[in-house]
Amino acid sequence: MADYSDTIAAIATGGVISAVGILRLSGKDTIAVVDKVFRPLNGRPMSQTEDRKLMFGSLLDEEGELLDLCLCTVSRAPHSYTGEDTAELQCHGSPMVLRLGLQSLFAAGARQALAGEFTKRAFLNGRMDLSSAEAVADIIDAETPMAVRNAAGQLNGAIFRRVQLVYDSLTDICAHFHAVLDYPDEDIEPFELAAYADTLSGAEKDLRALLETHRRGRVLDRGIPTALVGKPNAGKSSLLNALLGYDRAIVTSVPGTTRDTISERVLLGSTLLRLTDTAGLHDTADEVEKLGVERTREAIEAAELVLAVFDGSRDWDGEDEEVLALCRGKECIALVNKSDLPQREVAAHLAELGRVCAVSALSGEGLEELSAMVAEAFPLPSAAVGEILTNERQAEAVSRAVESVSAALSALRSGFTPDAVLTEAEAAMAALGELTGQNIREEITNRIFSRFCVGK
Ligand code: GDP
Repeated sequence: MADYSDTIAAIATGGVISAVGILRLSGKDTIAVVDKVFRPLNGRPMSQTEDRKLMFGSLLDEEGELLDLCLCTVSRAPHSYTGEDTAELQCHGSPMVLRLGLQSLFAAGARQALAGEFTKRAFLNGRMDLSSAEAVADIIDAETPMAVRNAAGQLNGAIFRRVQLVYDSLTDICAHFHAVLDYPDEDIEPFELAAYADTLSGAEKDLRALLETHRRGRVLDRGIPTALVGKPNAGKSSLLNALLGYDRAIVTSVPGTTRDTISERVLLGSTLLRLTDTAGLHDTADEVEKLGVERTREAIEAAELVLAVFDGSRDWDGEDEEVLALCRGKECIALVNKSDLPQREVAAHLAELGRVCAVSALSGEGLEELSAMVAEAFPLPSAAVGEILTNERQAEAVSRAVESVSAALSALRSGFTPDAVLTEAEAAMAALGELTGQNIREEITNRIFSRFCVGK
């Protein structure tokens, strides 16, 4: 394994102007590096300062010139985020100060940290399991209040604890079966077999329940891919703007102006939509618009939810019929727009879609009902905080574990040889170990942490 104890440094707060900006260090020479670039006001170097005490002082550049007045704190191994000696310099949040400060740390012996390297070290040094480490990236990326809470729960080990319970019960079974294999003369008592079957069936149930949270849980992290469709002038762009609360698309009364598709994240209630506003659906000779119509069809194909907009102030026509036809077979909410104007018989044509909502992009009327309908169509799993499986890699590992546990149970019930049960139970443990990081190949670890930002 590579040497992970060399000293790394990074800007932890991103490259934007802010009130405070943080430089972060980890590794065996951290405190020596900090002593070269930071002079506490009280004259006592950080090497003689106790852990987690915030010291005020001067940050110096490579020439020893003053760069900033800032705060510094150190946490020595093993009681730190990474398990190594670490330090933080809390500077003024100027990207230039931070860049020069970082250069100064490099000159003093640190090197640039790679993406996710701090958290990777925390994992490798046993400060957190892999599911918690992955939650660090999730909490940073979270776009809804629920996504934050779920990631925080996982950070706190919610998934780890659930998986570990199953892992421990499988360990017991494997230990017993190994003993049976080692002493073939010893029979397994029927009551023991029944107890193993119960344990395996309980493990299968737990893992399936966890996997079930993933089916709906995916939308928590990524949002629901949603297509906003309708004939020209139905009010798609106006609705998008109403949902966003600001003008994103150009709204005009000339049909066919939304020629390209626009993608936006919209937080509707507590549900995140990844919304694509498409060109109006209608036959056209115009080449540019033809492309747009094609994109509309593609957007509907790719979407998990279609918001189909109809103009409630105009008579139902062939174009509406075409929109309706495209929505068949999709999860769809029909929006009868312009409810602020006198209404025609439009909703009556939409009964087959099930979910129909009268709205006005102009006044905002009906958007609350729309929000409730979306939440009803995409309910979040009723799992405890932190126990919604949002991570694809983890779900895939759980899925393999379920298959193996289920195979172990069948082997046990059909009276197969103990080694058949053992092989499957061990395969399940291996899959769960990938989730928590108990047994995981280095290249997979590298791939996981490369999706982190630098400084995390
Ligand atoms: P799109 O072609 O489907 O994107 O439609 P637009 O959003 O560009 O809207 C077409 C026209 O209908 C514009 O003149 C809008 O101001 C108008 N419009 C959109 N929504 C409403 C609404 O709820 N009420 C009223 N009265 N007019 C609307």
